[in-house]
Amino acid sequence: MSDQYKFDFKPSFDLAMRGEDWSHDSEVCKVMEICRDLHMLDRTLVSDDYDNALDYLGNVMPMKVHAVESGTEVFTWTIPKKWVVREAYIKDASGEKIADFSRHPLHLASYSAPFKGTLSKEDLLQHVTTNPDRPAAIPYAYHYYKADWSFCLPHKVVKDLGEGPFEVVVDTALEPGAMKVGEWVVPGNSPDSILFSAHLCHPGQVNDGLAGVALGLVLMQWLAQQPNLHYTYRLIAHPENIGSLCYFYKNPALIPVIKGAVFLEMVGNKNHFKIQRSRQGDSSVDQLMELAVAEVRKPYGVGPFRKVICNDEININGPGINIPCISLTRWPYPEYHTSDDSPDIISMEMIKETLDVCKRFIKMTESNWRPVRKYTGNLFLSKYDLYEDLNKDDTIEQILLAFEGDKTVLEISRDLGLSFDRTADYARRFHEKGLVDLNYGHRDEQACRCGDLSKTALNWGSIFHNGDKGSQGEENG
Ligand SMILES: [Zn+2]
Repeated sequence: MSDQYKFDFKPSFDLAMRGEDWSHDSEVCKVMEICRDLHMLDRTLVSDDYDNALDYLGNVMPMKVHAVESGTEVFTWTIPKKWVVREAYIKDASGEKIADFSRHPLHLASYSAPFKGTLSKEDLLQHVTTNPDRPAAIPYAYHYYKADWSFCLPHKVVKDLGEGPFEVVVDTALEPGAMKVGEWVVPGNSPDSILFSAHLCHPGQVNDGLAGVALGLVLMQWLAQQPNLHYTYRLIAHPENIGSLCYFYKNPALIPVIKGAVFLEMVGNKNHFKIQRSRQGDSSVDQLMELAVAEVRKPYGVGPFRKVICNDEININGPGINIPCISLTRWPYPEYHTSDDSPDIISMEMIKETLDVCKRFIKMTESNWRPVRKYTGNLFLSKYDLYEDLNKDDTIEQILLAFEGDKTVLEISRDLGLSFDRTADYARRFHEKGLVDLNYGHRDEQACRCGDLSKTALNWGSIFHNGDKGSQGEENG
């Protein structure tokens, strides 16, 4: 994962805070509680602690588990065995443990192979990772696909290391297990689905993965209380990359049903929002999420597919699946991939904002109809209690000409320069009077999914949206 795309604005790791206390907000508190409770678990690809985390989340809200056994070929990948750590430490010459898996799961690189021995300092350092940029933090490392072992230590500890010798114990094993994907479903009137996705791996870290899962779950609890949803909403929590593939491997029939997806990626740290576009680039999900973000917090950034922060969109929006998948993120942040990515860096205000953005996105998604007129010719507005003085404002005339079924509320609002809500309100009122059918449709996205990616052939400049002083967005943000 890397930031390959340069934005015109500087990250703000200490974003101006409104100084509000969110401790009264039960949703924000629940996200924080989940983050704190699951923070220190050794959540890796296949592990008991990963399963424990999933069990915990299943108690917050009932879920389905999609399990794929170790050794199964999932497309071009093979599901790894379960990694078991019985103990792992380094003792210095005085007998003091300078690294101990039981103190912090990041001390041992994930999937380290077993080893026992006494090593010189020089030999030990061949198996030690540090991060000089954050000298007090333990970095994150893994050996998924090559049998090796290593420890991760704060750089300052290694700088002051004695001469040794060092006693090294890596008591680990690989056992048959299963990779598990947790799925929460809030059914709507239609099987057509919107997917939220976040990864639950990354031991001893919070913002990278866990915060998105926790926030997604609280969002699903909120969705479960919403009456009369059109779309079915799904959240999946899974190991990064291979986990989302397991989901589609187990549920191929969902691929045409899921109309759009949002990857919740690093959403709790203090920084501006960025939206990474879908591969299609201009799907309803792209457009509606950008509208939602613009209302809640400016400035925000928008970047092209795979050029902001890379993750499971390469599967969800990738070959043979190709569901438009955006990422909503606050990347970058300085604590990334270290033990400093702890509950301490999760901001209640940022969680609150991200929840607000997602709820607004969902509300607009629900009313992004494709209104189809049932009237012929000019409309006798007074008869339907729709009269507006055309000499003052001819919007309603533009509206009655636009409800031809070829455009969504979002597209009509953009064509006419109206707000989304005002356009949707016209559609709703016309529908109440029996003047339009309110269909949902994904014509553009489907065209893109058939391989017409011409819409993404834009000259992707850096897109930066400044806040208008005193705009509604700033007030609400
Ligand atoms: Zn990561």
